[in-house]
Amino acid sequence: MLPLDALIREAEIAHGHLCAGQILGVRMAMLGLAKLGIDDPRGNKEDRKRLVTFVEIDRCATDAIGVVTGCRLGKRALKFRDWGKMAATFVDLAANVKSDRPRVGVAQRFSAAIIDPLPTAALAAEGQPGARLKPSVALSGSAADHWYKAIRIAAKESSKQLARELHPEIENKNQQQMLAYRELSDDDLFITQWVRVELPPEEFPGYKSDRITCAQCGEGINFHREVLRDGRILCCSCAGEKYYETL
Ligand SMILES: [Zn+2]
Ligand SMILES: [Zn+2]
Repeated sequence: MLPLDALIREAEIAHGHLCAGQILGVRMAMLGLAKLGIDDPRGNKEDRKRLVTFVEIDRCATDAIGVVTGCRLGKRALKFRDWGKMAATFVDLAANVKSDRPRVGVAQRFSAAIIDPLPTAALAAEGQPGARLKPSVALSGSAADHWYKAIRIAAKESSKQLARELHPEIENKNQQQMLAYRELSDDDLFITQWVRVELPPEEFPGYKSDRITCAQCGEGINFHREVLRDGRILCCSCAGEKYYETL
């Protein structure tokens, strides 16, 4: 792994400016990688394929985490959970762990497809182009097999206060935090917890899926994001999860 200063420099270039959030993000990612024993997530092929990162906020630190880990949204290695929390979970795909829990979490948003019993009409439609149904629970085998060991790291609320105490001489808050976040220990900055994360095959970076067509809008759907509603295979939008309105 590159040293802190080199990674901060890279993060600054990628993000467009240097800020306290960048430094916190770089430190958080470095700690996550160290905990998992992943040294070179952006180069070494073994290490590169070992990591998926969940981020819980879309702020400055998120960009830095992407830079340090090499995990990007477009590679499906960066997963965004919009919880407004300065936290990230680093998942080690080489550390498969078992769980007896029923499928939740990653698959939560597909719950409609999972709990909805398959009606005969939909089953009959299988094999017809543009009308295939593959709820993720059906294609993923045993749900117990798709859990991976991970380290979740959250920034402590107290770190801003610690920055004030460490560098009261610096008036500018961003400058004060930038320096303090370089100097403070991991324990001062972060809470860590070992967790397991459900990651079925269709959530993996290199997963190849068939394209399914929405019965209502006709648009293509990848990665089994289709939803079964009243016997029809719909995209999330047509199923009611719309984030936009047509003008
Ligand atoms: Zn920033
Ligand atoms: Zn649709």
